[in-house]
Amino acid sequence: MIKCLLCSRNIAQNFLFSELFLLKSPQNLLCSKCQKNFEKIPEAHCPCCCKPNVHEICTDCQNWEKRGYKIRHQAIFHYNQAMKDYFSQYKFVGDYRLYQIFEPYFKNISQKSPLVPIPISPKRLEERGFNQVTAFLQQDNFIELLEKENSVKQSSLNRKERLESPNPFRLKKGLKVPTKVILIDDIYTTGTTLYHASQILKEAGVHEIRSFSLCR
Ligand SMILES: [Zn+2]
Ligand SMILES: [Zn+2]
Repeated sequence: MIKCLLCSRNIAQNFLFSELFLLKSPQNLLCSKCQKNFEKIPEAHCPCCCKPNVHEICTDCQNWEKRGYKIRHQAIFHYNQAMKDYFSQYKFVGDYRLYQIFEPYFKNISQKSPLVPIPISPKRLEERGFNQVTAFLQQDNFIELLEKENSVKQSSLNRKERLESPNPFRLKKGLKVPTKVILIDDIYTTGTTLYHASQILKEAGVHEIRSFSLCR
């Protein structure tokens, strides 16, 4: 019997026999109850950062633009409670298997520009055992252009502290820097992480930076 990766309910029991033939995904990793808890970003969203339920450029993006950072970001899911629970299980408990649930969404990112994942610090890598962003990308080609210093967890900082935190990234040595990239992250909250990463890339000569995250 297949069990849901999140709640351990038996999956097949949720479906009638006839429905089994209609399932779109070849491997079913989640029960229907858990699947329903994840919400795609609705049609009403910020055209720059995908913030849900706003009808024009959101105030976050307007503020970034004042600082010279034009956001061109795509996200798929709303960072709701179910997503918060998912990421706490995946990142903080360190359940690596959970990358499989959202990996397919990373396959649809335009491959016109090289994908550059947001790195995690060596300390975090040692604790967690994996980078939750590159885990999603494992089938694809990507360049790890950036590295991150050991620093305070962004999730332990409030909004103001995040916006004012020093840049934790630097360019890895010895790699060829492309002119266009798509930065890849798991969650977009204030935009500070992507802002910092893009500052480093701009200084290194990248002139077109777009970004993607699973959640906003
Ligand atoms: Zn479940
Ligand atoms: Zn926005």
